[in-house]
Formats: sequence, C-alpha cells, structure tokens
Amino acid sequence: DGKKYLDLISGIAVNTLGHNHPRLVQALADQAARLIHVSNLYGITPQIELAEALTTNSCMDKAFFCNSGSEAVEGALKLARLYARQKGYENRSGYVSMKNSFHGRTMGALTATGQKKYQQGFEPMLSGFTYADYNDLASVEAAVTDETSAIVLEPIQGEGGVIPGDPDFLAGCRRLCDERDMTLIFDEVQCGMGRTGAGFGYEASGVEPDVMALAKGLGGGVSIGATLARGAHGKVFGPGHHASTFGGNPLACSAALVICDELFNKGLLEHVRAVGAYLKRGLDGLVGKYDSVVEARGRGLMWGLVINRDCPELVGLLAARGVLGNVAAGRVVRIAPPLIITEAECDVVLEALDGALSELG
Ligand code: PLP
Repeated sequence: DGKKYLDLISGIAVNTLGHNHPRLVQALADQAARLIHVSNLYGITPQIELAEALTTNSCMDKAFFCNSGSEAVEGALKLARLYARQKGYENRSGYVSMKNSFHGRTMGALTATGQKKYQQGFEPMLSGFTYADYNDLASVEAAVTDETSAIVLEPIQGEGGVIPGDPDFLAGCRRLCDERDMTLIFDEVQCGMGRTGAGFGYEASGVEPDVMALAKGLGGGVSIGATLARGAHGKVFGPGHHASTFGGNPLACSAALVICDELFNKGLLEHVRAVGAYLKRGLDGLVGKYDSVVEARGRGLMWGLVINRDCPELVGLLAARGVLGNVAAGRVVRIAPPLIITEAECDVVLEALDGALSELG
C-alpha cells in the first residue's frame, strides 16, 4: 500500500546490513556472474577467505561451512562426539543443554532445544540429552555424567526471551569442561556476528568455547552457517567425516565476506556499540515510564523489553506505527534491528514503542 516500515527484527536477526545494501548487492551480482556453485570437490577462494576472516577475528582456528543455524549446531554436536571417541571415551555420547534454549529444528538441534513446545509431535527425541537450568551452575554440575560429551548453550538465549548468560555461569561451564575434557559448545547463531557489539557473544564474558555455531547474520540474508572449532577440537574433523553439498558455496561466502569486512574492518562493530548504548538509554526510559515494562535486557543491538504479561498484540500496535517488531517467549519484545540502524531511526523505534505501550495500557 506504499506504507514505509522500519524493520526492527531484520528477518530474525539476519539482515545485518539492512535490505538492499549496495555493497552486498554488488558482491552477489559480481560473484553470480563468475561462479555460483561448484561443490567442495574443489577449493573455493571466497570460502578460504571467509574461514580466514572468521578465525582471524575470533578465538577459533578452523571453519566448516553449511547452510543454516540448525546445521551449524548439528556439526557441533557431531564434532563433540567424535572428539570423545578419538580420545578413547567410548561411552561419551551424551549432551547437557539448557532449559528454555533454542537450537533449531533438525532432530539433533531440536533435541538439544530445551523447550517441549518445539518437540511436541516429533517424539521420540534423540537419546542422551539432559537439560539443566540456564545460569545455574549447580544444575549443570548435577546433569553432567561420565557419558556427557559436551555442554551446549547460547551465551545469550534468544528465542527464550533474550536472557544474557551470567559470566560466572559461563566460566563455571568452561571449568567443568576443562576438568572432564568435555567440549564446550556455544550456539552463537543469534548472538554472534556483531549483534552484541562484539564480534561474538562469548567476548563479553571472556569465556572461550571449544566449538561455536554461527548462521543468521553471517550471510546478511543469504543462507550460510558455520561450525567453528579451536585447538584440539579444530583437528577432529578430517576429510569425509562431515560434509554439505551447498555448504560454503561461492555465492554465500561472497556475501559473508562483505559482512565480515564491514564488521571487522569498516567500523560496524563500533557503530553497534555506540548506537546500542543510545537505544539502551531509550529503552531504560520506557522501563521507568510504564509499570507494564519490567526490564530491558540484552547487549549491543540484541534487546528484550520484558512486559509483565503476554502481549502478542504489541506486534500489531507497532506495525500500525510503522515498525516491524516481534515478541519472543510470549511477553518479550525482541529488538534485533539491522546493525546499520542510526540514532535517528532508534528515535522512530522508541516513539513507536512509547505509543504502543501507552495503548497497551
Ligand atoms: N540456534 C539459535 C540460537 C537460533 O536462534 C536459531 C534460530 O532462531 C537456530 C539455532 C536455528 O537456526 P536456523 O533457523 O537457521 O536453522
């Protein structure tokens, strides 16, 4: 109808550079004119460059490319089991993941997801998974057994309602993994790639995982996922262990290279930190203004505005004010705009939220 919208959810934390970013459009057009897909039977230059960009800018050493977040998690789960087998821990096929987590819809990722509502109708889930309370180290300690190969968690739970991991909790999980030679897997599909104002979500805590799953913002809208690993975990997969026909194809990698360049070389991370702080001030103002708003939690440009009751109608109230929003976990307005959002655009968002909250009552 010719109505303009400001996209506050960016394809669920995917469109890092917004829509139709000229650099991304040009890179895709150029790459499409050269090669779109050749398979991993051949070395792919943009794939090698992307692996270098991701490992140079993170604590990781190796990259495996796939096409989605679920697949990146599957790769991480498989890697942890193989690590255990290669180390001679024959019985270690289990995982501890977190309640209220979300890891994807394929059977491994779905089983890791600690929310029954996503699993209903698809049982039985895979065996070997136990679920611990997020941000509760004692609960993780109680869940770990001699059969646990890995602890799997999101450094900030996304779909569960934007819940940041407590640094002490993350450090405790790291210690447990070190003591027992288990794999620490961070699912950074939603909170990675600059979303929190750091390159990766783990950086805020200083806790480095052994394996990290990426997707969503990595391709800026083009499907790509990655399973990254470091140290001994980077040496687990050899030729033939794991593969993907489309994974790391030239087109997707050329898109992700633009995202990495903007984030790590062109100042986008600094922008996220500055504009994120501006947005946080505005959100805190709404917390102070409305009794219905409990808190604003998150980091960088990943925020959850927590309402004191279920509020699906907020999506419509925001849309009527020209803002495309989303509600996670029933009562958390999820704010995950393109990372290029400006302060002036944040003002538009805050004004729309103000109006919508006032109408919500
Ligand atoms: N992991 C996390 C933390 C996610 O938020 C999601 C999707 O929302 C996934 C995994 C699954 O990613 P995909 O939908 O690309 O398979």
